[in-house]
Amino acid sequence: MALISNESLERVKGAADIIEVVSAHTDLRRQGARYVGLCPFHEERTPSFSVEPTEKLYHCFGCGVGGDVIKFVEEKEGLGFAEAVELLADRYGVELEREQENPRAEAKRQRRRRLEQLLERSAAFYSNYLWESEEAGKARDYLAQRGLREEVLRAFGVGYAPSAWDKILVRGQQAGFSVEELRAVGLAQRGRSGGDYDRFRERIMFPIRDRRGRVLGFGGRAMRSDQGAKYVNTAETDFFHKSQILYGVDRAKAAIAKAGRAVVVEGYTDVLALHQAGIEEAVGVMGTAITPDQVAALSGMVEEVVLALDADSAGQEAMLRAQRVAAGRRMRLRVAAMPAGEDPAEMMAADGGPERFREILERAEELTAFQVRLVLERTDTSSPIERDRALAEVAPVLAGMGETVSRDELIRKVAEKLDLEPAMVMGRVVAATPASGGRQDPGPESRVPAQPAPRRPAELTSRERRERALLAMCVALPDEGKEYLSRLTEAHLSPTGLRAAAWLREHPEDPASNLPHDDGELAGLIAELVIMSREEPSSHEAMELNFLLLDQRRLEDEIAAAGERGDYERRTALSRERADLVEQIAHKQRVAG
Ligand SMILES: [Zn+2]
Repeated sequence: MALISNESLERVKGAADIIEVVSAHTDLRRQGARYVGLCPFHEERTPSFSVEPTEKLYHCFGCGVGGDVIKFVEEKEGLGFAEAVELLADRYGVELEREQENPRAEAKRQRRRRLEQLLERSAAFYSNYLWESEEAGKARDYLAQRGLREEVLRAFGVGYAPSAWDKILVRGQQAGFSVEELRAVGLAQRGRSGGDYDRFRERIMFPIRDRRGRVLGFGGRAMRSDQGAKYVNTAETDFFHKSQILYGVDRAKAAIAKAGRAVVVEGYTDVLALHQAGIEEAVGVMGTAITPDQVAALSGMVEEVVLALDADSAGQEAMLRAQRVAAGRRMRLRVAAMPAGEDPAEMMAADGGPERFREILERAEELTAFQVRLVLERTDTSSPIERDRALAEVAPVLAGMGETVSRDELIRKVAEKLDLEPAMVMGRVVAATPASGGRQDPGPESRVPAQPAPRRPAELTSRERRERALLAMCVALPDEGKEYLSRLTEAHLSPTGLRAAAWLREHPEDPASNLPHDDGELAGLIAELVIMSREEPSSHEAMELNFLLLDQRRLEDEIAAAGERGDYERRTALSRERADLVEQIAHKQRVAG
């Protein structure tokens, strides 16, 4: 598949009716030149979601999401860029033209396609082997004992890897694939003696697919207890990343979208058993915690994720990371209290199991409340040291919740249990709250490779608000904007603001007509700026004032830096400059009234 040509892209955007597309997800009402409604990306009672029909942009002033009509379809339908364009092209009857790419990209794509075929063929081989071979008899028995019927096993493509050392290796090569390709997809591995052999042998094979149903790798379950690891997965390859895998997502996505929630379980057989019992919004993760990548992948599709994992044993730190990502995306994470020693697959096989499981799902507890309860239960409250440790552990959990009624309740509970003053607990929570500043590095925990969560307006620093106001005016008044854009430097702007300024410099006439689709954060900010530019009054005076205020912050940074370096001469000179600037600002503010 070659690239979609720019002309086609333009035609799709031209033909698409953003009001119609968005209206499928929320009711819109006209308000002046724009449309407003309840945000389809976060829970709210008063509308803060805005759609600009001529530029075909959306932005939520509540949760910060935004972009163009293609981005909306990507986020809401859980599609990639090209898929979203294809969907819109289909719907609005635009024929897509493709462009020839550079040969290297084309070669890469072809290799990827070959590897996909190799994985698909191997999955088919394993599946046939499970149903046809005598050797797999014990595997069929095992699966039947677990209550899994042939229908669901076939639907998920479950298979069996023979015990021979080279079945896949030989068959793969017979079909024209090289040993190198077999290694690249993780099916062959090199032994100590230098020869290659099959990675999966004598194992029940679970093909792991992406959202579109393409095989990425496999999970293999041992048949004998003396066989080494009980589960062996495909090693990390170019396209198999364990932390991003949601097992069964290809079969679960429709049910997930319909239910507005996903149920996350730990094992392959758990996913199968739940689907068989009609709980089709179930997906699997490989481990006891959900990763930030998995949260991010689900956040476009659902508002709520219920973890039916052995959450007791999940690392607290791992859960905290997931919680932080979820909170940034307005997604609720809840924990279903699974009975000790019983996994979902076992429960489904028992009488009345599915009903019991559904009840447990309904009663699921907020992850934060769960974590706090877990810490408190494990604390020996007679020991002051233990109490202090418990407080240190719950403070970051509570801090991550933001200021809410349920947090206040939890704080009271913690104070009572640890025999402390609520104000003291509150103090520790505030101290554990990450400082919000436009420039600091968010730290590795909150960094999600896919798409950073948009910053909610309430989280913006005053400096970022000012920067956005000025940039929006640069859109509204492009001639004067040009001058300010050339004066704004790294020292004035946040990293995102800086990228937005560069974008506006490069696209002075039509900033929104071709939003970058590989940089969701920037696209969202540009959409916001364009919508703001239509709504907020702009004037030369206001632009100048905003610029001077940003310049004042720049001077203050430089003064602080000079002080830290011990360069007092420079600091004095800068301070004088600041005094002049403050004077100038005060004058402008007086004039502006
Ligand atoms: Zn929103």
